[in-house]
Amino acid sequence: MAKIHELSVNLANQIAAGEVIERPASVVKELLENALDAHATQIDILIEAAGTKLIEIIDNGDGIDDEDVEVAFRRHATSKINDRQDLFKIRTLGFRGEALPSIASIADVELTTSTGQQAGTAMHIKGGEVLAKTAASARKGTRIKVTELFFNTPARLKYLKSQQTELAKIVDIVNRLALSYPAVTFHLVHNDKQILRTAGNGDVKRVIAEIYGPTTAQKMVPITTTDNDFEVTGFVSVPALTRASRDYISVLINGRYIKNFQITKAIIKGYGSKLMVGRYPFAVINIQMDPLLVDVNVHPTKQEVRLSQEDSLVTLITQAIQHVFTQMSLIPDGYQNL
Ligand code: ADP
Ligand code: MG
Repeated sequence: MAKIHELSVNLANQIAAGEVIERPASVVKELLENALDAHATQIDILIEAAGTKLIEIIDNGDGIDDEDVEVAFRRHATSKINDRQDLFKIRTLGFRGEALPSIASIADVELTTSTGQQAGTAMHIKGGEVLAKTAASARKGTRIKVTELFFNTPARLKYLKSQQTELAKIVDIVNRLALSYPAVTFHLVHNDKQILRTAGNGDVKRVIAEIYGPTTAQKMVPITTTDNDFEVTGFVSVPALTRASRDYISVLINGRYIKNFQITKAIIKGYGSKLMVGRYPFAVINIQMDPLLVDVNVHPTKQEVRLSQEDSLVTLITQAIQHVFTQMSLIPDGYQNL
């Protein structure tokens, strides 16, 4: 008898979910990315019990056509890329077609969506099984409600940290996406209490104020620089405003929040001796580049990227920060005027 056989679709999805969906914050991240890729300008995020009870995301984006709704929950089904060429010029946050099938394989998911052209579609899917599909309101946008996360993966459920820690991770991802998309209104509510509402007027400094408070925002200075390959804009804190961890440094490449140690190091290096040992600045650095220069297909969560011109990029960033502080020190009371 043959010993090798293909896994069932459902099992394959659950295995993929193990990589993509580590915790409630991963669900929030994937669903927000989908809303942003669908051009939403208003996103409501309703959370209960740090996402263990409820994660509900409502967007006013493009919606999904009725005929595509079931396909959207299939593995490797995406509207974002078509062929191999597309893989080298990714402008969307998603492209792997893994989030919806992964989430639906380990939770109870109710989706309501409409493109606004025709009646919408509602679908209920749990543990990978479609339980119901019906017509729904034609209000343009998508609403997705995730309950019973990890109901069929007990190890994952047990591994979750305290509600406080899980909520902090959700807040962190919402904050970073709000900083990346200042033109979008993010409204985050936990257990009926509002945590964040951004104005969505395109002003990054305002988002910084909304998240970290107006005093912090006042102590952020703009940086901007370009070379042939990169365009860097953003805000960095004056050396007097620091924190004990690197977590307040957000780096975005083509609108994607990424983790890159070399870039973080380059930002810190720009401060030279102005920072005390063990202290780190606040920073929001937005890098635009040709997608050909960045490989986002490194890890399922897409937060790790490979850059082909990393050395020149890190030098550019360090110099831009050095430059802004040199300028400020030339102006009498430069720092005080902030
Ligand atoms: P990916 O984002 O990598 O394409 P997903 O599994 O996250 O894969 O989503 C599958 C597809 O479902 C997307 O390509 C998109 O066409 C559609 N979709 C998912 N969420 C939304 C949404 N909020 N609004 C509109 N379309 C969506
Ligand atoms: Mg996606």
